[in-house]
Amino acid sequence: MGTSVDAPAVVAEEVTDNMLGGKKVTVVFVLGGPGSGKGTQCTNIVEHFGFTHLSAGDLLRAEIKSGSENGTMIETMIKEGKIVPSEVTIKLLQEAMIKSENDKFLIDGFPRNEENRSAFENVTKISPAFVLFFDCTEEEMEKRLLGRNQGRVDDNIETIRKRFKVFVESSLPVIEYYSSKDKVKKIDAAKPIPEVFEDVTAIFAPYAPKV
Ligand code: UDP
Ligand code: MG
Repeated sequence: MGTSVDAPAVVAEEVTDNMLGGKKVTVVFVLGGPGSGKGTQCTNIVEHFGFTHLSAGDLLRAEIKSGSENGTMIETMIKEGKIVPSEVTIKLLQEAMIKSENDKFLIDGFPRNEENRSAFENVTKISPAFVLFFDCTEEEMEKRLLGRNQGRVDDNIETIRKRFKVFVESSLPVIEYYSSKDKVKKIDAAKPIPEVFEDVTAIFAPYAPKV
């Protein structure tokens, strides 16, 4: 038997009539430019705070590999740094949340534009508990992307420049939208990984597993 912990200071807007078959979920959107460290820090959050990590980019890349009918279209969009149509990404995210036994999700790299955001909210009826925003300079992000060598078709300088442009023009407005709702928790992501994780930890402390 352990001691119980007070209710978290940050609670999800739990919606019962969402499109996950009534499953109540806590969703955190993890946003930031390409190379800002979203995936790396999500791995840390999963380990310490019991969330399930859903990377929209990874789900799309898995869809290409699976030989789905959308595969070629998705591959072309990714190579050009463009945003895949909302319905495709939303369906993959929804399926992953339904399949999972967990009810706490980090959605990494989505929503990428205002249309993604409104379609997700309309289709799933889920609002994020908050948005974790990894703020980083383009200079630092470019250095990381060119150095990471994960064999990705979009980690070349030409596509990287396009992804930066899409981030500024399409994704920053999503962050501004959630800022206006006081839902953004911004982190200085240009620092070394352990230091960024210290800041992340402070934000997720209310979600620490109860002991
Ligand atoms: N992508 C997309 N919609 C999403 C997430 C990703 O269209 O919701 C595509 C887009 O072309 C993007 C690429 O997948 O440039 C890689 O996204 P990911 O999040 O994996 O890359 P990151 O920004 O973390 O480097
Ligand atoms: Mg990523």
